Amino acid sequence: MAELSDASEEEGSEWEEGEQASWRCGRQLFAGTQLTSRSAKYYDGLHCRQASLLCRLCTGACALNYHRAKFDPAQTDLCECGKQETREHVLLACPLYDEARHSLLQHLWLLKIPTAGQLLDKPLYRNPLLDFLDRTGRFPRLSKALEVEKKEKE
Ligand SMILES: [Zn+2]
Repeated sequence: MAELSDASEEEGSEWEEGEQASWRCGRQLFAGTQLTSRSAKYYDGLHCRQASLLCRLCTGACALNYHRAKFDPAQTDLCECGKQETREHVLLACPLYDEARHSLLQHLWLLKIPTAGQLLDKPLYRNPLLDFLDRTGRFPRLSKALEVEKKEKE
């Protein structure tokens, strides 16, 4: 019984953390008046973790090593493949995610790879992009969020 309650507490705190992050993120977004309605539409219907991840990738404040290393000198800025782990690298270039990227590009009917900015800008690309991010396995919290959502729907 004690084990059960521990587990749910842990789940709860992580959930809150994600919620807070996306709330903070949302506040930043809504601070820009021009972007307000467009952003709201873009993030409409997303799980908070999905919205938070997309928002972080957009602003550059994401959980990628290149960004982390700026704040923590002990942290490597490299990807597992040995190159700097920037947003562009993960979205467009990393060979580790080639397979996931291939399916993203097929899905988008694109013949050439768009820029990271384009990928993150178009509502049309949003869901395939989330699918790609999930497939990379680089953002485990996103996958977890999707699992939770699936269970909620069942
Ligand atoms: Zn890489």
